Amino acid sequence: MVVFELIDFKNANWDADALSQCFDSDTIVEILTILHSRRWPNDTTCPPKLHHFLWRSCKGSLATKEVLYNRYCVPSPACDRCGGANKSLFHALCDCPKAKIIWEQHAAYFLIVDVPHDSFPELLLWIHRHTTKEEFTSICVTLWASWFYRNKQVFEGDNGDPVKLAADFIRFFTAWSPPNYGWVKVNFDANVATRANHCLGGVICDDNGKVLVAGVHSIWAVDVYEAAAALYGIELEVRFGYSHVHLEGDSM
Ligand SMILES: [Zn+2]
Repeated sequence: MVVFELIDFKNANWDADALSQCFDSDTIVEILTILHSRRWPNDTTCPPKLHHFLWRSCKGSLATKEVLYNRYCVPSPACDRCGGANKSLFHALCDCPKAKIIWEQHAAYFLIVDVPHDSFPELLLWIHRHTTKEEFTSICVTLWASWFYRNKQVFEGDNGDPVKLAADFIRFFTAWSPPNYGWVKVNFDANVATRANHCLGGVICDDNGKVLVAGVHSIWAVDVYEAAAALYGIELEVRFGYSHVHLEGDSM
């Protein structure tokens, strides 16, 4: 049996019957805490890129100091921003003094203070149970903004206004909507690293918000990253034969 057979694709969740045939109850509880990336589009009205961020957060694949240290990529696990020993994703997104600047201005700050954070899936599920859909979406976008700001500080030395950045994220990304009936929407973006090997990304969704195509493309040197990302999005839609297309970037 492979993992594929344990997933209920219709409901975008684990197949409880299949799990019960293979694992004991304790193991099933552990497995059920692992979220599916396809589950999130039903829970928020935000673009696929946010769902991808949440999915990577739950998988533990974001490049936190903890992850980099465990892979022997950095000599110290200490937080790059405050110097503290806590290297977890929760610290990077919520508990670091640099991240708290964002949350102290958020209506859900009292929730973030109390949220269980032994694991990121547990954190998200707890927040989901204790908030409305709109509040949950706002918190997810703010988590994403906090990660974006953290990366700007660590890799670019950017000390811009984090509260304004988070407010811009919420205003821009909670306004995401699917395309008109029969159309697809291409969301594109550029990830500019401090060294070479930058990335362009594009995601194509249908009018139900379902992800049809997602792709990334490495580039070594381009002067106009967002334009290159837009071109990559167009190349994707042409390659896969879509003719009624909304093209949307998220340059801040
Ligand atoms: Zn810190």
